[in-house]
Amino acid sequence: PLSISDPIEEHRICVCVRKRPLNRQELLKKECDVVTVPSKCVLMVHEPKQKVDLTKYLETQTFRFDFSFDETSSNEMVYRFTARPLVETIFEGGKATCFAYGQTGSGKTHTMGGDFSGRTQNASKGIYAFASQDVFLLLNQPKYRSQNLEVYVTFFEIYNGKVFDLLNKKAKLRVLEDGKQQVQVVGLQERPVGCAEDVIRMITIGSACRTSGQTFANASSSRSHACFQIILRRRGQMIGKFSLVDLAGNERGADTSNADRQTRMEGAEINKSLLALKECIRALGQNKSHTPFRESKLTQVLRDSFIGANSRTCMIAMISPGMSSCEYTLNTLRYADRVK
Ligand code: ADP
Ligand code: MG
Repeated sequence: PLSISDPIEEHRICVCVRKRPLNRQELLKKECDVVTVPSKCVLMVHEPKQKVDLTKYLETQTFRFDFSFDETSSNEMVYRFTARPLVETIFEGGKATCFAYGQTGSGKTHTMGGDFSGRTQNASKGIYAFASQDVFLLLNQPKYRSQNLEVYVTFFEIYNGKVFDLLNKKAKLRVLEDGKQQVQVVGLQERPVGCAEDVIRMITIGSACRTSGQTFANASSSRSHACFQIILRRRGQMIGKFSLVDLAGNERGADTSNADRQTRMEGAEINKSLLALKECIRALGQNKSHTPFRESKLTQVLRDSFIGANSRTCMIAMISPGMSSCEYTLNTLRYADRVK
């Protein structure tokens, strides 16, 4: 396991990568693990040049990130170095965002804590829950206790450029932008929460809603972005907002040929939103005045998180370790590499 002290340095943008362990099926298939994490920031992909003899034809590509988490790291560990440093931002009048990016099956939902298959994971053990706990912890500190802050949560899904409320039976919502470029999701339910357990209940409701009516939960959830937000208000006025986003599987963006029309359209939309997201985060990191947020519904809805002096973002790129995922893994790493 990694042994590093908690990060103290302040970054506007933090890009990390998390490798999941090989799963049972992969082990049964005797799949090779082609990813190594030699230090807390470095990650290597040992790409087979030809699939014949691994030992002879391995080409190693090295990437550097703010943090690299190997397969032994826990959700809590990942949380500590990614989302946790952003929690205080929302108490100081800022916007924080944390994105889980990667191929379907790489561990995005597992890391965020929105997996309710009931087998391996529950809501209390992912980033959603850890962040909520810390929000209430801070709220009860002397510094903030006297401020009469109220906490609300929202949970919605963006599928094929449309927004659906996961806390209101997947009601389809309209997105409006006023003359001052303020973006509003009309009718989005903001549920008041008084403690971390309340939040878990909301996550449970929203996650169940996300996958309802689908035999293969992953098939639909891999094509949508899920956004869970923790909002701080004082007498109705928004003080800060933390958006935790479980992105659509990035391989879906490539579904632009050899597929039916619907799948192609969805693929194009996903591709567009992930490209726009990259550009918006880059603009935030470089303090650019122009943010291309209108390019996709995802970036439009998150617009206020990409601007302002007190906005901070963290991206966690998830990767599968197996050789058969190598190409997707490299795509994910190249994307994450260019975000910063
Ligand atoms: P995604 O949301 O990216 O499609 P999931 O989070 O659903 O992927 O993960 C796919 C499967 O792998 C799930 O069964 C999940 O529990 C498991 N998994 C993912 N990451 C890890 C991890 N770090 N450790 C153990 N199991 C994991
Ligand atoms: Mg998922």
